Amino acid sequence: MSTMICERCGCKYEGPSCLRCIWEINWKNAHDNKGQIARMERGSSLAPPVEMDALKGKALFQGTGKVPYETTLSSCTCKDYILSLSRNPAPCKHMYRLASDLGLQKLPKVKVLYEVFFDDMSDEDYFSEQTITIKVNHKCVRVMLEQRPDNNEN
Ligand SMILES: [Zn+2]
Ligand SMILES: [Zn+2]
Repeated sequence: MSTMICERCGCKYEGPSCLRCIWEINWKNAHDNKGQIARMERGSSLAPPVEMDALKGKALFQGTGKVPYETTLSSCTCKDYILSLSRNPAPCKHMYRLASDLGLQKLPKVKVLYEVFFDDMSDEDYFSEQTITIKVNHKCVRVMLEQRPDNNEN
């Protein structure tokens, strides 16, 4: 596929449209509140997408259910995003993570409260909201993230 130059922002892109502009036009003023900052933090601690199409700006994220979430820069099939549609549409943690992985959005670093080492890793541990699990030297490390009381606020 050939490289195009975006007429709006002047960036180069290779897919069907300029992803930078899709992200900016959809969510220009959406990020600057506590609820969205919490979503960004959760996005930065998510397990990486199980599949990603960097040209089209699409990814699949495995949640706790069997069917992965289908995430684009303007939509997601997760409950948090679908619920946001009826009040004030705003990116979910999956969309933030996708935008970050595509280099379109900087995400804040999460604050680690404590770490627990253990040998086995269940799906539930891996994908729970307040913890992330990473493998270090063949051991699993469960990392407890700072809990914010305003996680579900918009
Ligand atoms: Zn553009
Ligand atoms: Zn989502």
